[in-house]
Amino acid sequence: MNDAARGPEVVGAASGRRFIWQIPTFDGILSLIGPLLVALACCIAGGLGIVTYAPYGPAAAIGVAVGAMAVVAMSQTLILAARPSVLEPLFGGLDRMYRVHKWLGISALVLMILHDQFEPDFDHTVRETSLGDFASDAGEFAFNAFLALIAISWFRRLPFIRLEIPYQLWRFSHRFMGIFFAIVVFHQFFVDMPNIANPSLSQLLNIFGIAGLVAWVHTEFIARRLRRRQFTVRAISQHAETTTLTLTPIGPAMHWRPGQFAFISAPDAGLSEPHPFTISSAPRSDGALTLSIRALGGWTRRLPNALRQGMHIELEGPYGRFDFRKGRAHQIWLAGGVGITPFLAWADSLTKAERRKIHLVYCVSTPGNAIGLETLRAAAQRTAQFSFEVIATAQDGRLTAEQLIGSVPFPVREADLWFCGPTGLKNGILKDLKASGQTPRQVRYEHFTFA
Ligand SMILES: Cc1cc2nc3c(=O)[nH]c(=O)nc-3n(C[C@H](O)[C@H](O)[C@H](O)COP(=O)(O)OP(=O)(O)OC[C@H]3O[C@@H](n4cnc5c(N)ncnc54)[C@H](O)[C@@H]3O)c2cc1C
Repeated sequence: MNDAARGPEVVGAASGRRFIWQIPTFDGILSLIGPLLVALACCIAGGLGIVTYAPYGPAAAIGVAVGAMAVVAMSQTLILAARPSVLEPLFGGLDRMYRVHKWLGISALVLMILHDQFEPDFDHTVRETSLGDFASDAGEFAFNAFLALIAISWFRRLPFIRLEIPYQLWRFSHRFMGIFFAIVVFHQFFVDMPNIANPSLSQLLNIFGIAGLVAWVHTEFIARRLRRRQFTVRAISQHAETTTLTLTPIGPAMHWRPGQFAFISAPDAGLSEPHPFTISSAPRSDGALTLSIRALGGWTRRLPNALRQGMHIELEGPYGRFDFRKGRAHQIWLAGGVGITPFLAWADSLTKAERRKIHLVYCVSTPGNAIGLETLRAAAQRTAQFSFEVIATAQDGRLTAEQLIGSVPFPVREADLWFCGPTGLKNGILKDLKASGQTPRQVRYEHFTFA
C-alpha cells in the first residue's frame, strides 16, 4: 500500500511526551476524496430516504433510508471492483480502492440487515399488485443470497482457526454479486411503494442501479477483452523459489512507471486466474518487461512447470502509485523477501543524473534467496548516489533499527523510508527507530495483498 495519506512528519515534545504530526501531502489529500465521495453518496441516499418518507412515520422512513443506502453502497462496490484506473488517484492506489470496496460491502451487509429489521410497511397506504409482491419476494431472496456471499467474503480467512477459503472459490462466489444486485434493483424498482411527488430518491437509486450493473457487466464480460494485452514468454529462469519471466509484447506495448504492477494470466498454461505482480524492470523501448514471482501458493507453485518459452501471457494494467520520484532527496529503501521487486524496477530506472541519495537494505532469509543482484550492482555502478546491502537473516541475524541507522549514509530522521515486505519487519523497525529518535520523515509502503 502506498501510504500516501501520510505526509512529512514533525516530531516534537508536548508535556514531556513525544508527539508525531503529519503534514498532509497533495497526494494524501487527493486520496481522501474517493472515500469521502463514496460516503457522501450513501449519506445523500439515506438523507433523501428520511426526508421523502418522513410523512409515513419514522420506522418507514428509516427502513427506506437504510435500504437506499444499501443499494448505493452495493452499486459502489461493483463500480470499484471494475478497477477504474481514472479513480485510482482519488483513493491513493488500487489497494486502497479495494479496501474501500471491502468496507462498502460490509456496510451494505449491515444496512441490508437494518432494512430487513425496519422493513417499511405500506400495506395500508398502497394497493398491492402481484408484480409488487413478486418484487418483495425477490428482495427477500437477494437479501439472503447477499448475506451468504458477503459473509463468505468477509470471513475469507476464518477467525481464530487458520483456515482460509481458497482464493478461486472466493473469487467465483464473488462473481454472483452482480446477479443478486440486479435482483435488488428489480426489487427497488417494482416493490409496491406510495406515489411520491419528489422523484429525487428514485432517480438517484436508478442512476446507481444502472451504474452498478454496467460496472458488473464490464468487469465480467468486457474488461477482459478491452484491457488485457498479449505478451510472449521470451525467457524463463528459476532462482531458489523465484521464477523470473521476461515478456515481450505482441502488438502495442504497455506503458508503466517503475514500481507499478499488473495482473497476469496464462490461459494456455492452465493459469487463467489473473494474479497481481510488480513489474521488476524499468520500461524499455521494445516494451519488454520482467516479473519475479515467488512460489507462495497453488498458482505460483504451478507456474514454473506450466510455462514454456514462446507461450502467450495476458497482462492487465498497469496499476499502482508506489513511486520514489515523489519522495525527498534522501531515501531509504527497505525490502523484505520478494518485496524487492518494486525496488528492482526503481534501481533499474536510475541514471547517472540521479540527484537523490538512496540506500537500499534488502532482507532475505539466506544469501541464496536474494534475486536481482546484477540489477542492483549495475545501478550502483551507474550512479554513486545509490548504494545497497543484503542482510541474510540466517547469517547476519534479523535486521535491527540500530544496524539500519549505522549502515545508512545519512541521518534516518532526515530521510523517507520506502518499504515493501512482511508487515512484521516494517512495524518492528519503525517502532525501534522511533524509540531511538530516528523516525523517518515519511514512510511509504506497498503491501502484496489487497485484503
Ligand atoms: C500489488 C501486488 C504486487 C505483488 N507483486 C508481487 C511480485 O512482484 N512477486 C511476487 O512473487 N508476488 C507478488 N505479489 C503477491 C502475489 O500476487 C501472490 O503471492 C500470489 O497472487 C499468490 O497466489 P497463489 O495462488 O500462488 O497463492 P494462494 O495461496 O492461493 O494465495 C495466497 C494469497 O495471495 C492472494 N491472492 C491469491 N490470488 C490472488 C489474485 N488473483 N489476486 C489478488 N490476490 C490474490 C490472496 O490474498 C491469498 O490469500 C503481489 C501482490 C500484490 C497485491
